[in-house]
Amino acid sequence: MDNFQMPKPFAWNFCGICGNELIIAHDGQSDKPHCPDCSRFYYRNPIPAACCFVRRAPDELLFAQRAVHPCKGEWTLPGGFVELGETTEEAALRELLEETNLRASSARLIGVSTKQSPVSGAIMVLGYIVDQWEGEDEMRPDTDAMDLRFFKKDERPNLPFSVHRELLDIYDRLSE
Ligand SMILES: [Zn+2]
Repeated sequence: MDNFQMPKPFAWNFCGICGNELIIAHDGQSDKPHCPDCSRFYYRNPIPAACCFVRRAPDELLFAQRAVHPCKGEWTLPGGFVELGETTEEAALRELLEETNLRASSARLIGVSTKQSPVSGAIMVLGYIVDQWEGEDEMRPDTDAMDLRFFKKDERPNLPFSVHRELLDIYDRLSE
């Protein structure tokens, strides 16, 4: 899939339950897509995601090279979207395990960054520090990652996603 094209911006046009075309109705605050048959308004909210700052003493951070579009081949922070039924911390640790095979049981929230996205509407990323983990001998890239590497601060690659850059600034301020 190297002839990747960005998807069209998301929009609610049809009811996800009955399939009828949505109308625009007032929900008490503003006009929103609405299905009269199902009495359901359709909302668009920032999509929650989590990323990990896997720290190895003294100043090394783990980066993952993306195996998927967008930004395939660029280095970024391990992480991904939060799924229903899990906490954001669990999402961060699950994504870490899936992408790196590192096992961690706790992560510490350091901040949140929300940015508009032409495709998704907006993405809200929670950044977690992971100080303790197991399995570095068996560390291997998988799913969304094709390579993994610890970088010292002055050797870090440029991050393609502005949410990650903002969280990295927060991380560096906390680490000073
Ligand atoms: Zn409906």
